[in-house]
Amino acid sequence: MTVTVIRAGHRPYRDKRITTHVALVARAFGADSILVDSKDEKLETTIHNTVKNFGGNFSITTGVNWREHFRKFPGLRVYLTMYGIPLQVHWKQLLSELWKTGNMAVLVGAEKIPAEAYQISDFNIAVGNQPHSEVSALAVFLDKLLGEFEYRKSFIGHLNVIPSDRGKDVRIIPTSDEARKILHKYGATEHIIKHSEAVARLALKISELAGANSDIVLAGALLHDIGRTVTHSVSHGIKGAEILVRERIHPAVVNIAKHHVGAGISKEESISLGLGDRSLFPVTLEEKIVAHSDNLIDGFTKVPLSSVIDKFIKKGLKKSAERVKRLHFELSDICGKDIDTL
Ligand code: SAM
Repeated sequence: MTVTVIRAGHRPYRDKRITTHVALVARAFGADSILVDSKDEKLETTIHNTVKNFGGNFSITTGVNWREHFRKFPGLRVYLTMYGIPLQVHWKQLLSELWKTGNMAVLVGAEKIPAEAYQISDFNIAVGNQPHSEVSALAVFLDKLLGEFEYRKSFIGHLNVIPSDRGKDVRIIPTSDEARKILHKYGATEHIIKHSEAVARLALKISELAGANSDIVLAGALLHDIGRTVTHSVSHGIKGAEILVRERIHPAVVNIAKHHVGAGISKEESISLGLGDRSLFPVTLEEKIVAHSDNLIDGFTKVPLSSVIDKFIKKGLKKSAERVKRLHFELSDICGKDIDTL
């Protein structure tokens, strides 16, 4: 399902702020893209920066012919206008049409829109039949339709807002420079840093083939052993996670450190190792990629699966050897090639 917002009548000198808000509402409330009729590079930059910081794939194109795009749109066409049929009357029908067609364009104006918009559209929808604003109309409309799917996407960006009843809680996915700063802050040795860089190189190759989030993989790979600045025992994953929580790092990265040891640790093993009453298996694709890249990097060098398995067997860790093997084949399957060949 894709949702495109079309903004007609944008006057860059006058509507800068309100069109920015139309675009921000479109992104935040689940649309995929916005088309704006007048060319406006500043507006494009503002929205690109929001996407860069807060994540998602929302796109903006300015300088388009709104009539052409609306007329030729391959899907459901909705025009938001105070003169239309109230949203409350049509929203269920709209939703079922959207399921059928899969794509929807939502046209909002700035100043008066030519009457042909009423003819081109499949639905002319009013959010209450009183004049207000394209920002409010779009927000209420998208909330009613896409709120059913919790806006369809969760955003993961450099900055991530964690809902909080008081104050601000923002967690970051650190860039490689930020990750290196954290490693230095906690006194990571050259060995830890070089090892982590080697893990990151392999993890990024796997991530690209597997279609994982490479920002999370890179940050997680660089920081997976931060706990070794405190201890080299099996608890270094948990200790690392504690450090990363203190540093206000996003849980997607924290959990990479927490779940990277071996190919995971079962609840029973955790209890007997004194790591608490919890299982520590890698769960997400990104966690699995870093955990397994770490398995395959011995010091700074990549080794084949067979030698990792031999190492675990020699240590009497038969179960772990089995898990490593399973993880290797699971990831190789996702990548479409044996990870030993990367
Ligand atoms: N009287 C103007 C008109 O609709 O032609 C109002 C322009 S209004 C400032 C700008 C845009 O806000 C409109 O083009 C329409 O998309 C949207 N809008 C304003 N009130 C609305 C309402 N009650 N329902 C749906 N959309 C509305």
